[in-house]
Amino acid sequence: MQTTIITSADHFALAPGKLINQWQEGTRRGFHYETQAPVANVAHLISTSMPYLQKKIEQTSVKVFYPSGKQQHGQKHLAAIQDTLQYATDHFGQYDYAQFNLVPASVALPTVGYALPQMALIGEGVGFHANLNESDGFDHLYRRTVHEVAHQWWGYGLNIAEVEGSGVLAETLAKYTELVILRRKYGQDYVKRLVEFEQGRYFQGRSRDTIKELPLYRADSNYLIYSKGSAAMYGVSELLGETRVNQALRKLLTSHAPPAPPATTLDLIRYLNEVASESEQAVINSWFKEIHVNDVAIESVSIKHQNSEYNVTVCVIDHQEASHSVQLSAFAANGKLIEMKEFAKSAVNPACLDWTLMSKPKYFEVDAKLLLLDSNRENNIYQVPNR
Ligand SMILES: [Zn+2]
Repeated sequence: MQTTIITSADHFALAPGKLINQWQEGTRRGFHYETQAPVANVAHLISTSMPYLQKKIEQTSVKVFYPSGKQQHGQKHLAAIQDTLQYATDHFGQYDYAQFNLVPASVALPTVGYALPQMALIGEGVGFHANLNESDGFDHLYRRTVHEVAHQWWGYGLNIAEVEGSGVLAETLAKYTELVILRRKYGQDYVKRLVEFEQGRYFQGRSRDTIKELPLYRADSNYLIYSKGSAAMYGVSELLGETRVNQALRKLLTSHAPPAPPATTLDLIRYLNEVASESEQAVINSWFKEIHVNDVAIESVSIKHQNSEYNVTVCVIDHQEASHSVQLSAFAANGKLIEMKEFAKSAVNPACLDWTLMSKPKYFEVDAKLLLLDSNRENNIYQVPNR
């Protein structure tokens, strides 16, 4: 595809493809773009007078346009683009294009983020007007940028069949990419908090849904493809580890990159199953093909300290349906795991466990790895009183 744009002399114009030529014509400025490899046919023309930051990342020329005075925000967007291009190239597959641009979308537009081929539009509200000094909450500027860059793979790199569940292949996998990149930057606790938040959004969404909830592999509602999808991919990656999940995702991409036949969620499930054991396959199946909600809780704890041992009795209950096995973990004061035990799924109604711990527990938590969709997580933790 060839694109020529003539615009104001103080503007920079963007179109799909590589910038081949630019020139000045009196008070007008011209730009000529040419695509170097097949791209999705999503035409877009942008002309902006905003300043930009520029960086070469691997073979890709990256530009981040920013509203004047917001250079610091531009740097953060640039760092998020760099982290995502590098991670996704290493783990999912090559980024084949010579350029990537990020352009702020006006707050007047109804978007917080929108991915185009080789470009991301980021809503100014979540991006350039974000408060960089906010210490609590999540780094939405970074997270949102990672998400939109991830769509270069999960959206434009993958040929997605227009059938039920298509949003899972785009949005759930972009959410997974957020989680793994945020874990590298901010650590496991941060990502766990984010997934707890997404689980909350899932329960809000399902309480407002006016149609019967579909299993994830057939879903197209936002609370499913974004929120349950995040929880599912987090649960599956806690189970399989990032390496095996990425192995499956790389195979999904290489087998279904255009012009190869389009992929469905059944392909995603199949590739995940290929890297999983039989018991792990049952969990993958449960996340994607079934609908289970739990409300596990610690019902009671008693502790006797004798010599250097702690003799503990912990009772766990599932107020919902006891549909899965449940993990109970004991943690020390420094947050380190002392030991983890598993209750069989039939046992949790309620079930008590006698346990000898060799170091002092600070708190107990059921489902600390977020392997279940749990409607109330406040009752999952029992803090041992200081005595
Ligand atoms: Zn998205």
